[in-house]
Amino acid sequence: MENVRNVVIMGSGCAGHTAALYTARANLKPLVLEGHEPGGQLSLTTLVENFPGFPEGIQGPELVANMRRQAERFGAEYKLVHVNKADLSTSPITLQVGNDTILTRTLIIASGASARWLGLPSEQALIGHGVSSCATCDGFFFSGKDIAVIGGGDSAMEEALFLTRFATKVNLIHRRDQFRASKIMLERAQEHPKIEMITNTVVDEVLDPSQKEVTALKLRDTRDSKTWELPVSAMFLGIGHIPNAKMFEGQLDTDQDGYLKTTNYVFTKVPGVFACGDVQDRRYRQAITAAGSGCMAALEVEKFLEDLGH
Ligand code: NAP
Repeated sequence: MENVRNVVIMGSGCAGHTAALYTARANLKPLVLEGHEPGGQLSLTTLVENFPGFPEGIQGPELVANMRRQAERFGAEYKLVHVNKADLSTSPITLQVGNDTILTRTLIIASGASARWLGLPSEQALIGHGVSSCATCDGFFFSGKDIAVIGGGDSAMEEALFLTRFATKVNLIHRRDQFRASKIMLERAQEHPKIEMITNTVVDEVLDPSQKEVTALKLRDTRDSKTWELPVSAMFLGIGHIPNAKMFEGQLDTDQDGYLKTTNYVFTKVPGVFACGDVQDRRYRQAITAAGSGCMAALEVEKFLEDLGH
């Protein structure tokens, strides 16, 4: 069939771009469907200092833009669209994109995971200006400052503990007084001299969008509804991530939180369908590990097509 693609890549974060680079260099003419958040989580961050090869660091958006240019140089094609529906039971695989149907022999799912946000307008306005979902990426910028971490699970504990390296004080704000975090992580956080736990408390507003920086949080005690202001220079969200895999429900296996299950790193249970990056990795969630698994998925696509005789 002439109009059947060799490989379609869903998602344009580190995993997607790397898969595109490798499949393009294998002359497979990949089509990348960029999705809702082009560039992925790196496009939401500022200076990336832990991606090898950039001794002075590189801005997150610049890093993903470079990856894309590199893949395009070898013939990768990008479309700023998202997939409405995927039918993995057909051969070739059928993807619905708006009113168009795309047929492909192989599919690389690199749709990532999106940070869960509180959803406050003031929070959204200050992303990248003191509001962050990535302590590893942005913690360094708040050296010597008081900051806040939101959440009561392991992610929040981990972020809070990590941020004590930089911050003078970390206020850990949780909406209940029971924690989902594992005992050991919770105890470590509770015992840390720089961490103060503020429980039964929610964030009503992040101040101050008009100054384009975080100056304080307007907090509310859930027991008596009293509000108060906590001066901080940053708010880190540690309230979980949502893997972008919902459309594969019933077609691919997921864990209890919706992350795609893979075997041998990138294989899903459907032949020719591979998954890489944060949509299947709840453990490492780093740009470099996402890029690595994008490479693995691409190499498996090459092998799969070779075995099919393409
Ligand atoms: P999680 O365990 O689901 O915890 C999310 C936390 O955020 C909960 O405390 C929840 O509060 C809170 N939350 C969710 N939505 C909120 C909202 N809208 N407003 C305020 N608070 C909100 O997620 P996670 O911490 O990301 O962990 C996910 C999984 O990864 C867990 O299995 C965890 O053990 C694992 N993990 C492990 C490590 C490690 O071992 N080093 C590190 C990170 C993650 P409620 O409790 O009230 O629902």
